[in-house]
Amino acid sequence: MRVEENVELARLTTIGTGGAATAFARPTTIAELREALVWAADRGLAVATVGLGSNLLAADEGVDGLVLKLAGDLAAVRVEGATLVAGGGATNAVCLHQARGAGLGGFEFACAIPGTAGGGVRMNAGAYGSDWSKILVRARVASADGEAWLTADELGLSYRHSELRPDQVVAEVQYRLTPRPPEEIKETVRELIAQRKATQPTNKRTFGSVFKNPDHELGAGRMLEACGLKGHTIGGAMISPMHANFIENAGGATTADALALLAEARRRAHEQFGVELEHEVRLLGAIAVT
Ligand SMILES: Cc1cc2nc3c(=O)[nH]c(=O)nc-3n(C[C@H](O)[C@H](O)[C@H](O)COP(=O)(O)OP(=O)(O)OC[C@H]3O[C@@H](n4cnc5c(N)ncnc54)[C@H](O)[C@@H]3O)c2cc1C
Repeated sequence: MRVEENVELARLTTIGTGGAATAFARPTTIAELREALVWAADRGLAVATVGLGSNLLAADEGVDGLVLKLAGDLAAVRVEGATLVAGGGATNAVCLHQARGAGLGGFEFACAIPGTAGGGVRMNAGAYGSDWSKILVRARVASADGEAWLTADELGLSYRHSELRPDQVVAEVQYRLTPRPPEEIKETVRELIAQRKATQPTNKRTFGSVFKNPDHELGAGRMLEACGLKGHTIGGAMISPMHANFIENAGGATTADALALLAEARRRAHEQFGVELEHEVRLLGAIAVT
């Protein structure tokens, strides 16, 4: 396993911001992953895993620790009966493609979620009334201490939340799917993607939903829109004119710009609606939302 130094995280996040990771590795097998985790533990380094970086804001100052991106066997996908087995670094697009090819439905909801299997578990990602907890049989979770297969219950999956610690890596997952004709799957995906394109800035650099939907009659997007925040810009970051729960990199954005917008959105939602918005995007490095 090769450890690289000072690898730019801006290239590994969909918003395209963030400084460098002091250490970076791409383990391709479970043995390499364990080796990397033990290497970091021996040096007292923090560990974080990056999937497609589609729900991630990394500190502009960089991340002092080992950042992992799973590759090779740890990003491969295969079908076993009605079970889809995917490496933690496998993209949702490849999983969906394989499922459709095998005539297995149930993963269509993830067609517009541009992440990986591991990121989906960590976030309990979801859309259109489904989420990872509904399809996950179990996930193989590794840390410097060892590894274990954990069920959705054991992972504590709830709305955009899991109980995984930052140093725990989802190395492999098993999804339970159900037989469905490929043509039907294709049609459902086509409809869902069309819905997405009509309502969300899918062709811009964003990190997906900024905030979780609050327990309120308005979702986070409608609430921020009512606060007059659509198009609000700080530095190179802009609240999407299309959907106010997205922040776009409008050109030259930094993580600090995005965080300043996040703080302003939280302040306005609290002032106007008395609601404390909770951020959905995950933070990497020494940064916090105020
Ligand atoms: C255009 C767009 C649309 C989106 N739509 C949706 C949506 O409809 N629903 C939804 O839920 N989300 C959505 N998202 C957000 C995002 O795609 C999901 O949260 C996705 O599951 C993140 O996966 P990732 O692999 O990119 O994770 P990353 O963004 O790389 O990381 C997210 C978190 O997961 C952790 N992580 C990543 N891989 C692993 C691993 N192997 N093991 C352990 N931890 C890991 C990271 O450390 C971090 O804490 C959208 C994002 C974009 C840009």
